[in-house]
Amino acid sequence: MAPLTRLFEIYIFNAQRFNFFKRKYRIMNPKKILEGLYLVGSESLSGSGDCMVYALGIGKNHICLIDAGTQYAQQILDNIAMTELKDRDISELILTHCHFDHIGAAHQFQQLFPNIKTYAHSWDLAAITGQPNTKGLTAANWYGLELVPPKIDYVLKKDPEILNIEGTKLICYHTPGHTPGSIAVLYENKEGIKVLFGQDIHGPFMDEFNSNINDWVKSMKRLISIESDILCEGHYGIFEGKEKVKRFIEGCKEKFDMEFYKWIWNFPKRSRHKIISALSKLHDHKKIYVFKHPKELKKWIEDFPSLI
Ligand SMILES: [Zn+2]
Repeated sequence: MAPLTRLFEIYIFNAQRFNFFKRKYRIMNPKKILEGLYLVGSESLSGSGDCMVYALGIGKNHICLIDAGTQYAQQILDNIAMTELKDRDISELILTHCHFDHIGAAHQFQQLFPNIKTYAHSWDLAAITGQPNTKGLTAANWYGLELVPPKIDYVLKKDPEILNIEGTKLICYHTPGHTPGSIAVLYENKEGIKVLFGQDIHGPFMDEFNSNINDWVKSMKRLISIESDILCEGHYGIFEGKEKVKRFIEGCKEKFDMEFYKWIWNFPKRSRHKIISALSKLHDHKKIYVFKHPKELKKWIEDFPSLI
């Protein structure tokens, strides 16, 4: 039996994905994580369906954005304008993987900032750039929207790949699992605080995403070994403290494992089969009725009014 808490988590997760929590639940202010680092986009902060979008100040005048959200670039900019990063231009956009809730608004940022440099891993490149037969890989249909493919200026191929942007060092780790080209990005501030941007490391793991659980287990072991102080995650928020970060990364599989999804999905079907086979043992001395549709049951009751 799966604990009820798990079902609850699945519900919350899907409720977020399918927009049950509308904008009335908006958190009005972006969240400061560290000096020069803010949470500026999310389901409640920028718009329905958005992943968590992080803005990191680099150099004196620029911002590196981690993921773009679905379609609310202007709201994200309005949020940035409420922080110490206001008056800076977005010069870099790192896309952590090919899913619509992370890349949908990338083309909007590219229009707003023509000099922006957009990064993505080579293994998710075909989906991000809208190559034929890759639609399912972006999950755009989950949001009922069409992807306008962004232009990728820098394709990440090395592992790890170290970016030096105006004196800010960002280490991009290839962390396949959720998608083949998923990456996690490590930033260390002047005080030595390690911040890991690990979007969607909780999954889900779906055949239609080309998810791979074995790759994912290896990727998570690697992320745990980094011993980050802060994890900036894609849908669950920000985890502070080495132990909390480790616990979240370790706990992922248990929460959003493909097998578990299947277990939930197939539960009614599987149970029905067991119940019918148990009933069949009583066949000799009991009359057994099996209804395949509520209408059949209704009709049966109507035909036997004395029963009610
Ligand atoms: Zn994803």
